[in-house]
Amino acid sequence: MNERIKQYTEYCLNCPIKPCSNKGCPLNNDIPTFIKLTKDGNVKEAYEVLSKTTVLGSICGRICPHMKQCEGNCVRGIKGEPVNIGEIEAYIFDKALKNEWYKNTKKTQELKGKRIAVVGSGPAGLTCADFLARSGAEVTIYEKYDKLRRNLKTWYTRF
Ligand code: SF4
Repeated sequence: MNERIKQYTEYCLNCPIKPCSNKGCPLNNDIPTFIKLTKDGNVKEAYEVLSKTTVLGSICGRICPHMKQCEGNCVRGIKGEPVNIGEIEAYIFDKALKNEWYKNTKKTQELKGKRIAVVGSGPAGLTCADFLARSGAEVTIYEKYDKLRRNLKTWYTRF
């Protein structure tokens, strides 16, 4: 783990009421838990916790309006700087992509035998397709362009 991420994770107070998650995160990502796991060197477990509620962590970690969401609700931000939650999230997902941890995502059989079309390969379409695929559905994404953007291609191939 690089020194910066280490410092960010150590700065988190692991608040039991977790306003960063409960008030700040539209996806209800379990922020204190994934930060603590990362701090303890369990980045793969941190990814497993985070991936229960999100698919595009490398992107959300970089482009979400964090100061209006998780970081804007961080207790550390009351008297100083909030924890840099976005950068920790992106770090975990970048590592997951590099190590292909997403290939081990557990599937359930709830939608086994169902064939489902998702129209559009934007963030909502990809997220929807991912959660459907995890439930056992056979998912096809329809996209008006001939391919996804290069940086999203990795996600496309998992379906
Ligand atoms: S509110 Fe801030 S300090 Fe508290 S658990 Fe969330 S990220 Fe950590």
